[in-house]
Formats: sequence, structure tokens, C-alpha cells
Amino acid sequence: SAPTIRTVTLPDGASVPALGLGTWYMGEQSATRATEVAALRTGMDCGLTLIDTDEMYGDGAAEELVGKAIAGRRDSVYLVGKVLPSHATRRGTVEACQASLRRLGTDHLDMYLLHWRGRVPLAETVAGFEDLVQAGLIRGWGVSNFDVRDLDEVASVPGGERVQTDQVLYNLNRRGLEYDLLPRCRQAGVPLMAYSPVDHGRLLGNPAVRDMASAKGATAAQLALAWVLRLPQVFAVVKASSPARVTENRAAMEISFSTAELEELDRMFPPPSSKVPLEML
Ligand code: NDP
Repeated sequence: SAPTIRTVTLPDGASVPALGLGTWYMGEQSATRATEVAALRTGMDCGLTLIDTDEMYGDGAAEELVGKAIAGRRDSVYLVGKVLPSHATRRGTVEACQASLRRLGTDHLDMYLLHWRGRVPLAETVAGFEDLVQAGLIRGWGVSNFDVRDLDEVASVPGGERVQTDQVLYNLNRRGLEYDLLPRCRQAGVPLMAYSPVDHGRLLGNPAVRDMASAKGATAAQLALAWVLRLPQVFAVVKASSPARVTENRAAMEISFSTAELEELDRMFPPPSSKVPLEML
């Protein structure tokens, strides 16, 4: 059985692992597919049972790869999918979800997110999400790349109070949301799902990160990940393409920081002192 793992509780009561597996750029090359499937399975085996995917990644190739990885073990996985804003009308949302479910080879998603804010009125997208909940095709829904004002708007549409999370860019290089979005979510009891916790790889070569990591007997990836996971109501999805890296990332959950270390990181990566518009990748 999988070792116990720190979890985050969503507004609907679901308990999800604080660290999950990203899939952006997976499934795109046949030469690496088997290793990527092995990486996802290794993650599930060690408790990283949350998988984040999207209809856009590889034009469906990432979803198909996830389908292979979860075949026969769907019930042990918390599956997160996303709808593109261009598909996010009430009816388009339902159709996009059905197409994703076919590629994933499953009958439901645990969480479905609006990938970013587009032109379709939010009330329509939320109506589509609620249709999907009623039909049993998704268990819950959320948003992604939403700043404070967008979240306020979600809360104002019918059903909007059922938003479960906001998936956003958050790591040592991108701390702007600590100023207002993080407190806003904390107050509302909506956990933030951090994406690109190692800044899409950019933090791995950072000399300051590498120095502190080696002083702690950790790798740069582990340090960057552990830092994002230091906050109780934040969970993260990291993408790694090999079993060894997934195992390494899993171990980041055991790393904690002293006050002095956190202060040093604040000096190297200063927190915001005023509003910074939410960044996205
Ligand atoms: P990450 O911050 O997760 O970084 C991924 C990169 O870091 C890859 O190049 C990976 O290499 C490398 N890496 C990961 N772990 C290690 C390690 N232990 N040692 C060395 N290198 C490592 O970036 P992502 O942008 O992929 O973000 C994570 C996930 O978040 C995405 O995959 C996606 O699911 C989601 N996302 C959502 C967005 C949204 O708009 N909602 C936007 C961006 C991401 P390799 O793959 O070669 O192992």
C-alpha cells in the first residue's frame, strides 16, 4: 500500500495529496511514452495519486498517455482535467469533457478546471460544470489562472460558491499572488493548486537554490518544491518524465525549513509588497 502522504482538504470535503503529477508535454513523442507512463505509475505507487492533465496538452496526446497510466487503477487516482476557454460555453464544456473522458478511458473526472479566463460569460461555463456534476461526469470543478477579481466574479454567478480550487503559477520566482490572491483564497477556504512549482525547470539551475539545497542534502528540484508546499492550504503539481525524478520529487514532501532558511529565501526571492497582476505560463 502507498505510504501516507500529506493531504489538502477541498471545500467539498475531498482529501487530495498535496503533491500531484503534471503532464504538460507528455505523450508527444513515441520514443519517450513508455518512460512517461512508468513515471506516472511510479508516482501513483508512492502516493502521488493526483494527476493533472488537459485537453490542450499535445492535442489530446497527454490525456491518452494518462489513460494508459491509469488503466486498471482508475479508482486510486484523483484526476484533474481542464477545458479551454474557447470550448467553455455551457454545451461546449460538456462536449469537451466527454471527449476528454474518451481519451482518458474513464467515466468521470474528479476535478474539471476552466484553463484560463476567456470571452464566454462565467455563468455559462459554471452552468456547464454543474450539468457535468449532475450527470456524474465530474465530481467537482474549479478555475485556473484566475486573479482576485475573476474569483470574485465566479463567486457572484449561480453555483459559483462551489468552486473548489484555483490552479495558478506559483514558485520562488513568482510570488506575486502572496499579496492578495493567497489571502483571498485562504479566507474563502479555497486551496490554491500551484503549477510549475520549479518554474518549468528554470529554478533548477539557480545558484542560490542549488547552494541551499546542497547544504540541506537535497536537490534543487526538491528545495523548490518543498518551498511551495510549506503552506498548509497549497497543493502543487510538478511534471517529471522519469521514475527516478518522480521518486526524488516525492521525497521533497519530507523537507522542512528553519525560520533562518525561509528568511534567506525571502532575501533571494523577495515577496511582493504591492499588487502584482497574476502571472501565467
Ligand atoms: P514544472 O515546474 O513542474 O517543471 C517541469 C520541468 O522540471 C520539466 O522540464 C522536468 O523535466 C523538470 N523536473 C521536474 N522534476 C525534476 C527533478 N527532480 N530533477 C530535474 N528536473 C526535474 O513545470 P510545468 O510547467 O510542467 O508545471 C507542472 C504542471 O502544471 C504541468 O505539467 C501541467 O500539468 C500544469 N500546468 C498548468 C498550467 C495552467 O495554465 N493551468 C500551466 C502550466 C503547467 P523532465 O520532464 O525532463 O523530467
